[in-house]
Amino acid sequence: ETLTAVSVAACFDYALRLYQARLNAANVHVERHFAEQEVWVRADLVRLEQVLVNLIGNALQAMGETPDPQLTLSVERRDGEVLIGVADNGPGIAEAHLERLFEPFFTTKSPGSGLGLGLSISSRIIDDLGGRLAAANRPEGGALFTIRLPADGESS
Ligand code: ADP
Ligand code: MG
Repeated sequence: ETLTAVSVAACFDYALRLYQARLNAANVHVERHFAEQEVWVRADLVRLEQVLVNLIGNALQAMGETPDPQLTLSVERRDGEVLIGVADNGPGIAEAHLERLFEPFFTTKSPGSGLGLGLSISSRIIDDLGGRLAAANRPEGGALFTIRLPADGESS
């Protein structure tokens, strides 16, 4: 594993490029709430990209029947930490599922459309970087996944 200084915005760009055709086809409105100054974390580039790809893929699937799908991406530095957010305005997460999402093979999708491994792998990747991946429902509706990581230069 190669840890380098990684730009979170560049990782998001990669993931968005990957999904560009699907985002356009589904008319997803993408909103970016990024800190003015570029935010860096110490990470394995490919793995952090993989996490964002997983989270955005889940958001897109969740918004499959949402009339005005909206994907909100955010990056900010706060108190020596980096907070990365991926939010959607889909149906959100059932209360009973919230604590099971990160279990390997937990899925609510039909066989073939989900293995239930994305979040468990993603959470493991973030743990390995000394961070934390959390899920929540947004008060305005939809799901919010938050990654907390030590900011580059301040990790232990
Ligand atoms: P998979 O996508 O293969 O089902 P994941 O580990 O990526 O596996 O996600 C596990 C489960 O978490 C999903 O099946 C779904 O029930 C729930 N989930 C993940 N992301 C969202 C989201 N953005 N909105 C609602 N539910 C979600
Ligand atoms: Mg998934």
